[in-house]
Amino acid sequence: MVVMRILITGGAGFVGSHLAERLLSAGNEVVVVDNYFTGSKDNISHLIGNPRFELLRHDVTFPLYVEVDAIYNLASPASPIHYQHDPVQTTKTNVMGAINMLGLAKRLRVPILQASTSEVYGDPEVHPQTEDYWGKVNPIGPRACYDEAKRVAETLFFDYHRQHGLAIRVARIFNTYGPRMAADDGRVVSNFIVQALRGEPLTIYGDGSQTRSFCYVDDLVGGLIALMENTAGEVGPVNLGNPGEFTMLELAEKVLELTGSSSSIEHLPLPQDDPKQRQPDISRAKKSLGWEPTIPLSEGLVKTIEYFSKSLGARAS
Ligand code: NAD
Ligand code: UDP
Repeated sequence: MVVMRILITGGAGFVGSHLAERLLSAGNEVVVVDNYFTGSKDNISHLIGNPRFELLRHDVTFPLYVEVDAIYNLASPASPIHYQHDPVQTTKTNVMGAINMLGLAKRLRVPILQASTSEVYGDPEVHPQTEDYWGKVNPIGPRACYDEAKRVAETLFFDYHRQHGLAIRVARIFNTYGPRMAADDGRVVSNFIVQALRGEPLTIYGDGSQTRSFCYVDDLVGGLIALMENTAGEVGPVNLGNPGEFTMLELAEKVLELTGSSSSIEHLPLPQDDPKQRQPDISRAKKSLGWEPTIPLSEGLVKTIEYFSKSLGARAS
């Protein structure tokens, strides 16, 4: 691997902090840019002090002037409660953030990777989802600020590629979990684990028959780097996720079993436009990147439970 100076926007978040760690340990210099909307300095405190690590407080809706060799654009709230908290800012972050980072990549003539999402498929009619499926998204619903903004960002990436010859990479990330998810960000894996550890009821939205496919963060980070570094000319979009598909009821049962918790299960109303099923077809990633996830859900959950046991314990004491 060639040593480079790499920019990660949203690098103080859950995925970004793991990516920063991996790129640093491979010998690169890493510049993290974040406005701490959903991320935190705690996620990267162990990297501060490393002479190859730099941290800038910056909002990507404003232009940024730095000199780097590659850009991973991750800045965006990712959990439904966070991206719906200030929907206008969510759209601005994803659209203006993409324009600003693409402008930076164009000036520097460096490759740029977009953290897109399985949400571009909306509530999908094709199952599992392949990259050539265009999706079924409600453009005016509560999830639109995220889904449509991520779709526009993909449009911008491909137009910069066609119009300006920019070296782009677009990763469509499916539900990812692991240590450093925020305990209060409302995503299902962190919610269930935190509830189980606190002995509170696990909140299943709807009847729990909806499905998701969960990828452990280390696997995802490997996929993002493989996509950025691929020499096969793969620009994407490429689905990155774990095809193991589970209902939310199955997930709740697994979390109860692995935590040994005696929490009950409580059913709450299903949020509007909540996708009924989601599973990545990862044939493209396997073929062009030689990538596939290796960490099964039970193993990843054990590591995540360990993390939350420690961090909740530390907060309580
Ligand atoms: P996260 O919320 O933990 O991290 C996002 C980071 O972006 C945070 O540190 C936040 O402070 C920062 N940020 C938000 N707005 C910003 C702005 N205007 N300027 C600068 N920084 C800003 O979320 P995550 O799970 O780490 O997700 C990272 C990326 O991956 C996001 O783009 C998300 O859409 C994408 N993604 C994640 C998942 C997943 O399951 N984790 C799934 C699909 C896509
Ligand atoms: N969900 C749930 N209980 C929770 C949080 C989420 O049943 O406490 C459900 C949610 O309705 C969705 C699935 O879990 O069907 C995944 O939700 P998450 O917010 O993690 O991600 P996304 O909907 O963006 O895939």
